[in-house]
Amino acid sequence: MEGLQDGRCVICGDATDILRLPEFNLKICPACFSHFYERRVRRALENDGMVSEGERMVLALSGGKDSAALLFALQRLARVMAFDLQALHFHLNMGDYSDRNLETVRTQAASAGVPLRVVHVGEMGLRIERVKGWRPCAVCGAIRRALMNREANDLRANALATAHTLEDILLFTFKNLLSRRLYALPPVLPETSELARKIKPLVYTPERLNAVYCRLRNIPFFEEKCPLWKPEGHALKQVFEGMEEIMPSSKLQLMLSLKQALPAEDEDWRELIDCERCGEKSSQTVCALCRLQEWFSQAQVP
Ligand SMILES: [Zn+2]
Ligand SMILES: [Zn+2]
Repeated sequence: MEGLQDGRCVICGDATDILRLPEFNLKICPACFSHFYERRVRRALENDGMVSEGERMVLALSGGKDSAALLFALQRLARVMAFDLQALHFHLNMGDYSDRNLETVRTQAASAGVPLRVVHVGEMGLRIERVKGWRPCAVCGAIRRALMNREANDLRANALATAHTLEDILLFTFKNLLSRRLYALPPVLPETSELARKIKPLVYTPERLNAVYCRLRNIPFFEEKCPLWKPEGHALKQVFEGMEEIMPSSKLQLMLSLKQALPAEDEDWRELIDCERCGEKSSQTVCALCRLQEWFSQAQVP
């Protein structure tokens, strides 16, 4: 495998092919890496109170390397920590791209032995495209956010897990800082009477490690970029990579400092009312899904 060198594993002591993890000042063999990765996820689940014994967790599974790695790690942890695990995927109605994406996700869920629920947004009259004043990525985000809450309730989930990585959290918080919005995205958003707990078990894990875990465990993942993906939204990540190169582990240290220094906030903490059309919880009188459905149904009229 690419990236392996001769050496001695600092954990088991075997002289073998080893992986270098400068972020953690570790040289580690492939077998010990899988345990190391799963222990990291487990520590996040336990230390941040993300899930308790007997609870049901639903994982939003996009099929990319991050959520694929998390699925397989959680599948092992669900057995030892005695929680129930289900996967949830949104078919985003983007033609063959979404069909191929779904195929990979079905393979992943079947091979992990985790039940999968698939929601087709096309069947709800929704599409991912520009809507007055909304970029396509904002439309996609609004649809996924609303449907995740809804499906988590329908599946009676205690916790809804997403595969946000260390870099995602840093990017989000850093963009906030650059717009003088002084708050961070917390690893856990406690449940309310209306919404499941939101958890991010990979916030302490650099995304590079997710790809390594997938390769070592032969986990298939969906590698195609979204057809609407634009590099600009992610360019700031280069700042963090440059910083990490100069000072290993600085991404993690910066994220931990920001988390400690800034108050936590999330859109889902706004007060919720019943949508006057569909009755689901929303921060506005008509929820985002109902507004988008209305827009798309009118847009189809010639
Ligand atoms: Zn080892
Ligand atoms: Zn509604």
